[in-house]
Amino acid sequence: MILTGVELAKKIKEETKNRVDDLKAKGIIPTLRCVVSSNDKSTRVYLNSIRRSCNKLGVDFAEVNTDVDNILKDVRMLNEDKLVNGIMIMHPVPANVDEISILESLDPSKDVEGRSPQNLGRILLNVESFTPCTAQAVMELLEYYKVNLQGANVTIVGRSTTVGKPLSLMMLSKNATVTICHSKTRDLIEKTKRADVLVAAVGRPKMFDAEWVKEGATVVDVGINVVNAKLVGDVDIDSASKKASVSKVPGGVGSVTNAILVRNVVKAASRGEKI
Ligand code: NAP
Repeated sequence: MILTGVELAKKIKEETKNRVDDLKAKGIIPTLRCVVSSNDKSTRVYLNSIRRSCNKLGVDFAEVNTDVDNILKDVRMLNEDKLVNGIMIMHPVPANVDEISILESLDPSKDVEGRSPQNLGRILLNVESFTPCTAQAVMELLEYYKVNLQGANVTIVGRSTTVGKPLSLMMLSKNATVTICHSKTRDLIEKTKRADVLVAAVGRPKMFDAEWVKEGATVVDVGINVVNAKLVGDVDIDSASKKASVSKVPGGVGSVTNAILVRNVVKAASRGEKI
């Protein structure tokens, strides 16, 4: 079976659009600002896709272009701006900027990507917070397909702060038994082959084929790799889907991630509002 995120993303976007309309009727325009401090190509691609989603759903979107000397000041200015509901700090920041201190300065109630230490810490405490959108997208995709995590063996390959680490805690809070793997993991295939749910978040095209997965498993492919000008995931879907249910790339986790980000902006704008 092939898992797609398209219908789920559509559902989230429809609900979000309805909320935007309600807010606008009350004179509130959900507003997102993206702090851009580098000319990175993939940042540009990501920014354009967020801009398109915001435009479609009626969320006010703008870039705030900044530099090493002004980034902290600009984030603080956006924190204070009552008309701004969501702030994204585009990664990467210039090499001589301490990204952690920028994230620490971000108002957690406007941190719609769930990257600030406060929001990440709240995941650890298992209390409501903005969670990193990709990790959240994996959870919602599994829920959409009614994959039961209770007692399931979950293997996550990749331990980044935006995907693998928060996802491992989110899975744990659903009573999964979680194994988190990385580039130094010994005998990786032994860990992936015993997973009822395998999450691939590595960034290596088609690394996991049928050999790596358990019969009947659910495989969520987070990877986005460009090969010969085409997007491919970390999973060899043609091979792995003969044994397991595998999510598509593109049209899987990525489409849900984008919808969740815009939903978070609307959530931030809705604070204190009954909608
Ligand atoms: P990242 O920060 O580069 O982390 C990659 C992780 O993979 C690291 O933990 C690394 O281990 C591990 N790794 C690398 N090679 C490995 C190997 N041979 N065996 C086992 N583990 C290995 O990447 P990321 O930001 O988490 O992103 C991962 C992938 O997801 C990328 O393709 C990215 O483009 C994609 N992505 C997709 C979305 C979406 O919405 N779909 C969002 C974000 C990212 P170490 O920690 O030991 O280095």
